[in-house]
Amino acid sequence: MPKGATEATAAGEVIFRGIGVSSGIALGRAFLREPPDDQVVERDIARAEISREIARFEAALIATRRQIRAIQKDCDPSVATIFDAHLLFLDDGPFIKSVFAGIEGRHKNVELVLRDVAQGFIQSLENVKDEYVRERANDVQDVARRILHNLAGKQPTLAEITERGAIIVAHDLAPSETVVINKALVAGIALDLGSPTAHTAVVAAKLGIPTVVGLHNMSPQVRAGDELLVDGAKGLVILRPSAERRAQAQRQVKTKHDIERELTRLRDLPAETVDGYRLVLAANIELPQDVEAALSGGAEGIGLFRTEYFYMARKELPTENEQYEAYRSVAKRMAPAPVIIRTLDLGGDKFLAGLDASQQESNPSMGWRAIRFCLAQPDLFRTQLRAILRASVVGNVKLMYPMISNLDELVRANVILDQAKKELLEKGHPFNPHIEVGAMIETPAAAIGADLLAPYVKFFSLGTNDLIQYTLAIDRGNERVAYLYEPAHPAVLRLIKNAIDAGHRVGIWTGVCGGMASDPLMTPLLLGLGVDELSVSCSSLPLVKDAIRRVSLSEAREIAELALNSPSAVEAHERFRELTKKIAPEILELVE
Ligand code: PEP
Ligand code: MG
Repeated sequence: MPKGATEATAAGEVIFRGIGVSSGIALGRAFLREPPDDQVVERDIARAEISREIARFEAALIATRRQIRAIQKDCDPSVATIFDAHLLFLDDGPFIKSVFAGIEGRHKNVELVLRDVAQGFIQSLENVKDEYVRERANDVQDVARRILHNLAGKQPTLAEITERGAIIVAHDLAPSETVVINKALVAGIALDLGSPTAHTAVVAAKLGIPTVVGLHNMSPQVRAGDELLVDGAKGLVILRPSAERRAQAQRQVKTKHDIERELTRLRDLPAETVDGYRLVLAANIELPQDVEAALSGGAEGIGLFRTEYFYMARKELPTENEQYEAYRSVAKRMAPAPVIIRTLDLGGDKFLAGLDASQQESNPSMGWRAIRFCLAQPDLFRTQLRAILRASVVGNVKLMYPMISNLDELVRANVILDQAKKELLEKGHPFNPHIEVGAMIETPAAAIGADLLAPYVKFFSLGTNDLIQYTLAIDRGNERVAYLYEPAHPAVLRLIKNAIDAGHRVGIWTGVCGGMASDPLMTPLLLGLGVDELSVSCSSLPLVKDAIRRVSLSEAREIAELALNSPSAVEAHERFRELTKKIAPEILELVE
């Protein structure tokens, strides 16, 4: 059933398929968030009224700023920074000036001028190819709507939810609405619009509310009070779920609670198999504030800090000091645990407005991306390297290069690293001169030639998302070939094994930080292949640790041997299921 599709079952259910952006199961009753009333009345104003309209606008700006600061103060710290973008926009000179100019030049009321100016900003953001930047149009919409509400003296509507177990159903939801959701009352969120990179999705995931977005035409088909099931892992919303499905969902919810409760007990226990094989379980983060979720999940380090998100959230490149502060805060909070900072991985599907030749490329995944982009822009690269080096004095910082495909890139990157060290010495900035450098193994070339790279690095980290994309020739972002995504494909596994073995032969460790590591069904397989570290999404930490602690290394090796030699991944999957069913049947229920 493709995304956006609807299916009716014999039991009278209607199943909507979208994109799961925050996992977990929620069962509850629909709370319909009516689309905000964006109707604006047009009024001509006399010259004498101009100053009054401007004063109304200024008062609404002040009220909006105050409300956003209040939301920021009360909300989860991990999402509070999202509102920095809203505040920045409120202080945005061109935006404010355009509204003033519109009132003065057009002799129209502030509501109309504001709507038109905001629309102009939204349209120019929506024309940007990068999905992340495009999503910022929602932020502008959100702020403009709040100013309009303040001009009309209205309050937002989600405050009307008073009963537990509400599933918010809406065409779309603004991040500022999502962030004030009362977690005790809201069980799930189902939206017609949205994508995984939208701030609303980010906020929902951090709040841990099961959420499915991209459901297309779902909201008009749901009535207030309808019973709904939201499955955030599978990306499904089920209207009027059958008794059987409700019972299964209740079991899954209970299992998840039991596992979470159990796992708070496991939090400080080692990630160790039943026969005593110990590996490092670390977390992936995108923004500095994610470090709190990593710590509360019991991460033993940060295995991947994707620094480009920090760049992408900005209009201009962050300065060395800004980067240093961000890296330093993570290193300090995690110390003495390791923090692996990955250098910029822009390009592919991640762009930066204003710095972006790759937008014109016809095949950007294979184009001017990651280390290729950085080597071509040594000033920008050295700035980031200096910031990482400076942060290395406050904690256990390591750095790694993305998308290495030959030794030359590694050597050139290290030459630039040496230049960055020299510059810091000259300026008198302290740094760890022995900072460990690793390479991501995410191209088939790097995996096959891992023995050639290994002597030049202290560790490898397998980026399975890209490794699978390049090995199986399937575009990560193309839904039509997504069915070919198969982490257990024997060709992928042989590349992984080759890299791990090549590293071990010269005494370096290998971790996995791609999405495959976050799937507990894959945990025995990766263990059996010999990985030394798994770096997973913060929300997957408990389940993956549980999976590690339930399996034996000998069972894991057997699975790996079988999968490496299976003609296809089908047989291997059957064995993963059998083993998981034997050692942790409740995990199977959660992930299937
Ligand atoms: C990967 O490719 O698996 C990886 C971890 O890097 P990213 O997902 O950021 O490309
Ligand atoms: Mg990658």
